[in-house]
Amino acid sequence: MSDDVREMIIIGSGPAGLTAAVYGSRADLRPLMIEGFEAGGQLMLTTDVENYPGFIDGIMGPELMERMRKQAARFGTEYVTDDVTSVDFSQRPFIVRTSDETYKARSVVISTGASAKMLNIPGEKELLGHGVSTCATCDGFFFRDQELLIVGGGDSAMEEAIFLTKFASKVTVVHRRDELRASKIMQQRALDNPKIEFLWNSVITELVGDGKLRGAKIQNVKTGAESLVEAGGAFVAIGHTPNTALFEDHLELDGGYIKTAGQTTETSVPGVFAAGDVVDYRYRQAITAAGMGCEAAMDAERWLEGQH
Ligand code: NAP
Repeated sequence: MSDDVREMIIIGSGPAGLTAAVYGSRADLRPLMIEGFEAGGQLMLTTDVENYPGFIDGIMGPELMERMRKQAARFGTEYVTDDVTSVDFSQRPFIVRTSDETYKARSVVISTGASAKMLNIPGEKELLGHGVSTCATCDGFFFRDQELLIVGGGDSAMEEAIFLTKFASKVTVVHRRDELRASKIMQQRALDNPKIEFLWNSVITELVGDGKLRGAKIQNVKTGAESLVEAGGAFVAIGHTPNTALFEDHLELDGGYIKTAGQTTETSVPGVFAAGDVVDYRYRQAITAAGMGCEAAMDAERWLEGQH
């Protein structure tokens, strides 16, 4: 165990964590960021980001994250590329463990984000990465001129379906209801796209392949009718689960998300703060995560001042 007690440890390296790092390092809190093996969060799986203010022509997700990372490093943030395996918030200083190191901190900012939900049906695990994907922007390129399936009726599914039409010959949206959850503008764009078809009231019951996806068994939930649809790729876009398994026994959660007090980033343990998609089930935007990261660093700074 290192005897060095950090003023601030940040767990997770998406826009929330990196903004907390920029603010924390500029406040001389010498943040240590444990960035995880999948550093950078969900924006690493995105191509064009056109709604992050300040980038008139848009910016690629990974480039935006690299810029934030360098900005935080410039003011003294240190990085550890490892996953946190456990925490102990019952003692002071707090303990944060990775597989081979134990760190101590007076304050902790949690910004571990959220992960894609899966269908949990036969074939899905085996074919993930072999035709089944949770990220159209990462993998769409590999499916040129193929017929693709996408599951979900939310904004993510519509956005990904539209994106996939750049490559695919046809995209079929499989949705379990006859009404989309997506915003009206995204719905309209998808419905107007001649390359997108919809299978309403339908669920995929099995993904079929032989080391590579060949198609899917689809069931109409109203009639019970089953069909086998050929497809070169299937994209699962049914939402996300917050990455809070590490904190279940240590912090109060709300529907799986970390609970924060009022408009602050304070968790149920004083000195532990949380920001970004691990808290926010509503907005889930890079810019809102970054805003919360700023709040978390400011909340931590004030809290630390009160302790000295
Ligand atoms: P979401 O809004 O929760 O939608 C998930 C979709 O998947 C729903 O249509 C849901 O069906 C379906 N679904 C869930 N579990 C399923 C299952 N086991 N089997 C089959 N279908 C299932 O998630 P999201 O689309 O990822 O969006 C999350 C948030 O991010 C939303 O607030 C969204 O507005 C926002 N977002 C915005 C943009 C944008 O503005 N450009 C882009 C992406 C995301 P039901 O409809 O029947 O529940």
